[in-house]
Amino acid sequence: MTNKAKGTRGCSCFIVEKGTKGFSFGKKENKMGIRASSTTELIFQDCEVQEENLLGGREGMGFIHAVGTLNHSRPGVAAQALGIAAGALDEALAYSRQRKQFGVSISSFQAVQHMLANMAVEVEAARCLIYAVARNVDSGAEDFAKESAMAKYYASEVAMRVTTNAVQIFGGYGYMKEYPVEKMMRDAKITQIYEGTSQIQLNEIAAKMIKEAAAKKK
Ligand SMILES: Cc1cc2nc3c(=O)[nH]c(=O)nc-3n(C[C@H](O)[C@H](O)[C@H](O)COP(=O)(O)OP(=O)(O)OC[C@H]3O[C@@H](n4cnc5c(N)ncnc54)[C@H](O)[C@@H]3O)c2cc1C
Repeated sequence: MTNKAKGTRGCSCFIVEKGTKGFSFGKKENKMGIRASSTTELIFQDCEVQEENLLGGREGMGFIHAVGTLNHSRPGVAAQALGIAAGALDEALAYSRQRKQFGVSISSFQAVQHMLANMAVEVEAARCLIYAVARNVDSGAEDFAKESAMAKYYASEVAMRVTTNAVQIFGGYGYMKEYPVEKMMRDAKITQIYEGTSQIQLNEIAAKMIKEAAAKKK
């Protein structure tokens, strides 16, 4: 905060270079998923930064920079979620054709077929939302905050449901680290949390809907 009295308008972004006095790294976090990506605590203790490190060169723009960044990065997290979900679906479909129970492959059971079909529908629906917001971004649209939040919200919820169902289709093997779906389920969880939780995406979608409705009434 560069001006606490101004709330979000008193927030500024700074680039703090590695090696800056007072800036150090803390412990490496021991995470549930995305373990190939390292996440480390950042410690700022009496850390002074130069004025030229102020992002954008103007004070009080930090919140606007952060929100603008999130609007662009959320479709990326949505695409990550889609990749995890699509991968889990591929694995579940292949396993269901190969695994035999009661003398037949489990893919011949309608209960399993319906799970697979639901997973496929949700993966495709998530893909459509992500491509729609990507087209918006590519076309140079200025405001795609709602579409970005929708894609991130839906794709991450789908990733969690689809990976959980993939583990179910694998049965006991799904719970084992030897098979890939256990990792996919753990990796999916973060997409509902970072770049704003699912609850925050819903808040943003609703806020935008209400604002748009009010603007139409004017
Ligand atoms: C592995 C990992 C990597 C990360 N990487 C980055 C990164 O690179 N950059 C970065 O800036 N951040 C990063 N984060 C932080 C991440 O974005 C936050 O953890 C996330 O936004 C949630 O914030 P919080 O942890 O403070 O949860 P809280 O805000 O404390 O939320 C706790 C719970 O309360 C709910 N909640 C909070 N406020 C509301 C509300 N207004 N309405 C309804 N429900 C609400 C949340 O949905 C959640 O369920 C990372 C986090 C993790 C775990």
